Amino acid sequence: MTAYWCERAWLPSGVTDRVRVNTDDAGFVTAVEVGGQPEPPDVRLAGVVLPGFANAHSHAFHRALRGRTHAGGGTFWTWRDHMYEIAAMLDPDSYRRLATAAYAEMALAGVTCVGEFHYVHHAPDGTPYDDPNAMGEALREAARAAGIRLTLLDTCYLTGGVGEPLSTAQRRFGDGDAERWAERVAALRPDPTTRIGVAIHSVRAVPAEQIATVVAASSGRPLHVHLSEQRAENEESLAAYAATPTHLLHDHGALGPATTAVHATHLTENDISLLGRAGTTACFCPTTERDLADGIGPARALRDGGSPLALGSDQHAVVDMFEEARALEMHERLDTGQRGRFAPDELMSALTRAGHSSLGWPEAGRIEVGTPCDLVAVRLDTPRTAGVDPTQVVFAATNADVDTVVVGGRTVVQAGRHLLGDIGRLLGDAVDAIRSGL
Ligand SMILES: [Zn+2]
Repeated sequence: MTAYWCERAWLPSGVTDRVRVNTDDAGFVTAVEVGGQPEPPDVRLAGVVLPGFANAHSHAFHRALRGRTHAGGGTFWTWRDHMYEIAAMLDPDSYRRLATAAYAEMALAGVTCVGEFHYVHHAPDGTPYDDPNAMGEALREAARAAGIRLTLLDTCYLTGGVGEPLSTAQRRFGDGDAERWAERVAALRPDPTTRIGVAIHSVRAVPAEQIATVVAASSGRPLHVHLSEQRAENEESLAAYAATPTHLLHDHGALGPATTAVHATHLTENDISLLGRAGTTACFCPTTERDLADGIGPARALRDGGSPLALGSDQHAVVDMFEEARALEMHERLDTGQRGRFAPDELMSALTRAGHSSLGWPEAGRIEVGTPCDLVAVRLDTPRTAGVDPTQVVFAATNADVDTVVVGGRTVVQAGRHLLGDIGRLLGDAVDAIRSGL
């Protein structure tokens, strides 16, 4: 067993001084003791120790787009053309390399569990690989190498728009129909650090009459869906189905406590009510939503209506979960002219407990007996964090202040260094390898 001595730790009861966290050999917390002294061989963690962060929405390969899409303006849809160029270059090996580096960057930012919204399934012309799940297995290997847990959200992606065939660039995403998608996904197996969930790419990409097949295949596992990120999606849905995307999902049984709606940006009052009453989680990705000029979603209204909130770095223009969390509050401030829309505790809950529940790890995301020992030690002596009230650290810290990250009792980041070494180089090499083919 290992014991971690924390100067202070964020426990379910609040930030507490002098906490010892004991673990067993399997990496679970066996005791949380308050008030003692550090004793050898305790591992000493300075600053404030937080539960592990859940990054509830990731497309690992989008990391190759960072700092590459800002010349010449454009829209969400022209950005998507850049994204498809990268998607076309991937194979299982380059996908694994890039995802390994992207997940290691997340670990450096305190992420202990990632939800990968995975739709690049087949060879570029749509032909399945010898193992039809070769790309998903590449992501499993990547997360394992980076030392974080994974929920692989295998994504059903069938049409290029409502009633439209897949474009050439989209062919590798598709399985033909939801039945064949479900057969392929049924072959994916969980393991101690990987859980399998499912996703509906969006109401643009899964015909209404096939939504129920995806819901049935989810069988209580996490079900994620992109929802109303762009107004054009709402318009398409209203024109084809005379229903908003939210209403369509509701009508086909896709909302509920195991469901997470990603973005949830352009919603009606009725949409907010449907999502909240069903207990559907809303996952905001604020750094992506501002990068893509999506808009500001009704986060406070959703939370008040009954939706838990989670957070994701999505396209990884930024990988800093503190920034995602405080942006939830800051975007609300700009939108409403009010401060204090979210308490620091609510932002921390989105980062930890609610995010893990969204990804199907309800036992994780808090420092408590019986939970996986996931710890993020954040320094309080850096130029950014010196003098900060630890209960408000989420408003001051950045990924650069993360000192130590423990995932299931294993130290993955120590003194700001990932166990795989130089992650900047790993990322640069992985991005270059893919971009050299463009
Ligand atoms: Zn997404």
